[in-house]
Amino acid sequence: MEYQTFLIKYAEIGTKGKNRYVFEDVLCRQIKEHVAELGEFSIRREYGRIFLQAESACDYEDVIAELQKVFGIVGICPIVVEQRMEYEAICEKAIAYMQECYGNRKLTFKVNTRRANKAFPIRSMELNSEIGHALLEACPNLRVDVHDPDVLLQIEVRDQIYLYSATIQGAGGLPVGTNGKALLLLSGGIDSPVAGYMISKRGVELEAVYFHAPPYTSERAKQKVVDLARMVSGYSGAIRLHIVNFTDIQLAIYEKCPHDELTIIMRRYMMKIAENLAKKNNCQALMTGESIGQVASQTMQSLVCTKEVGTLPVILPCIGMDKQEIVDISERIGTYETSIQPYEDCCTIFVAKHPVTKPVPEIIRRSEQNLSEGIDGLMDRALSTVEVIDVAVR
Ligand code: ATP
Ligand code: MG
Repeated sequence: MEYQTFLIKYAEIGTKGKNRYVFEDVLCRQIKEHVAELGEFSIRREYGRIFLQAESACDYEDVIAELQKVFGIVGICPIVVEQRMEYEAICEKAIAYMQECYGNRKLTFKVNTRRANKAFPIRSMELNSEIGHALLEACPNLRVDVHDPDVLLQIEVRDQIYLYSATIQGAGGLPVGTNGKALLLLSGGIDSPVAGYMISKRGVELEAVYFHAPPYTSERAKQKVVDLARMVSGYSGAIRLHIVNFTDIQLAIYEKCPHDELTIIMRRYMMKIAENLAKKNNCQALMTGESIGQVASQTMQSLVCTKEVGTLPVILPCIGMDKQEIVDISERIGTYETSIQPYEDCCTIFVAKHPVTKPVPEIIRRSEQNLSEGIDGLMDRALSTVEVIDVAVR
């Protein structure tokens, strides 16, 4: 079957009352951006529905795959269009559609007609039964089951006739751009790309920051983070990635602070720098891939101790997930294979054998006083030498 038109179903937007149009506008813009490189398309909005129509030849599979990345879409229905507004034409199309989609398979079906265009002379109920009969006559493999059909053939009578029977699952969520912007602390691991995906799914735009520690962390490790950002941007749209040179701060911490507190102190400086970048770039929150209890730096006490250095909300989308649950999402969104490439991360290079698992903020603050001479200058330098890479799939 040649599909040129797609009916886009969206869920939660429908509950937004007067704001609904704002959400629909953003969703339409997102859809256009996602399919822009796949051909010429037009978008129409009719009575709470969005129709995407290909105006040039396009690859059906590619269009579906791309639409499945647009947050805010719950279902995609490939539809066929009949322009002749006549009963015979609808029957002909319905028969051709069922034969082409389902061949000779023995199936039960039901016809469900919606007559939005009241100028069409035949009522829905009548159309249902007449088209049903026509199908039974033309296709001996079909039987009617009005309660639990294998195939629900939907026919919509508008300014033209739409036929469809399949709904392909969409990504769900809300369109990106409807819920502010957050700064993701993006490492090369499994968890933070998943965290970014999840919050972007709720309509939040993303920027990202990566703490790079050359020569202890390699160019390859950095490239891996750029690659991951690009993968997440396939869903979230363009991501501005800030790369902070963290080496001098890390070395200072390593030289002057107790080694069992290295990770926690380092994470506190990451949060401070991230907060500064977030505020400068209009991000309303920070976000990390932390999951409670996963490692020493993610115990409840460690999380509290890391968080206390800033004032912005820190969103932790993976906080209640087991590792396997996070892995499952990363496999589904396509970041897993890149995440497990074995490149070093600055968190793992300067790590102590026995890090504190229950850091006490007063003690950590006291250790940080060892840094008082010089740390402000190092922070300023790290912030003034940030490399910015705009990352986008399209
Ligand atoms: P991930 O798989 O996301 O790397 P992880 O289990 O390895 O997480 P940690 O290394 O403790 O956990 O990092 C916890 C979180 O801190 C990460 O999810 C990420 O948000 C942030 N983070 C860690 N290292 C960096 C880095 N080098 N640059 C930016 N953010 C980082
Ligand atoms: Mg990590």
